[in-house]
Amino acid sequence: MPLYEYTCRECGRRFEVLQRLGADGTGVTCPACGARHVSKQFSTFASSVSAGGEKGGAMPCGAPSAASCGSGGFT
Ligand SMILES: [Zn+2]
Repeated sequence: MPLYEYTCRECGRRFEVLQRLGADGTGVTCPACGARHVSKQFSTFASSVSAGGEKGGAMPCGAPSAASCGSGGFT
């Protein structure tokens, strides 16, 4: 599960919450003051997942299907 970072709008505390991918801030409360007014921070982890997850055809060597990559290398 990805770790999402939130900032409390009441006290300004930053904290992290483990959530399912694509979850929003519903039900997230500040651990310091208990406020529900929190804003989600977008981490580099989340943005990299959405950027590179779609392509399936042009896997480099080292992908799970790497068996076909090195065929012919051993003689
Ligand atoms: Zn707070």
